[in-house]
Amino acid sequence: MELRIGQGVDCHPYDERADRRLVLGGVALDGPGLRGHSDADAVAHAAADALLGAAGLGDIGVHFPDTDPRWAGADSVALLAEVARLVRAEGWRPANVDCTVVADQPRLAPHRDAMQERLSGAVGAPVTVKGKRTEGLQGPGSPAGVTCFAIALLVREGS
Ligand code: MG
Repeated sequence: MELRIGQGVDCHPYDERADRRLVLGGVALDGPGLRGHSDADAVAHAAADALLGAAGLGDIGVHFPDTDPRWAGADSVALLAEVARLVRAEGWRPANVDCTVVADQPRLAPHRDAMQERLSGAVGAPVTVKGKRTEGLQGPGSPAGVTCFAIALLVREGS
């Protein structure tokens, strides 16, 4: 069986502007929004980069540049679904994606099932999400935000 593994990392700082919603894993949450060109969904972005990396297809910035007005406020779960389509078009089948979200707020556990359902639907394979607090490392003077790490496994179709 021919396998590929990929890693993705994404960070977005909190943005207190009222017009920014907090969206993580395709789920709208209460709390400060995140700064970014799209909806700033760091979980969907990290998952997309993990898939693209495993397939050798570059990164999310190549496919959906933040200089392109088409992606302003974009639903990043839709971008993730497009990434999964690109990966399949290259002959790779996503086996799974695992994400770790590093954030002090909000609590992610109550939203885990909804995130996993949306992300898995977009990828067409199981996507798991785990939350991790920084235990105070995002203290005064250091910019606060959300970081997400993801790894993806691909299987070559027919192998
Ligand atoms: Mg991003």
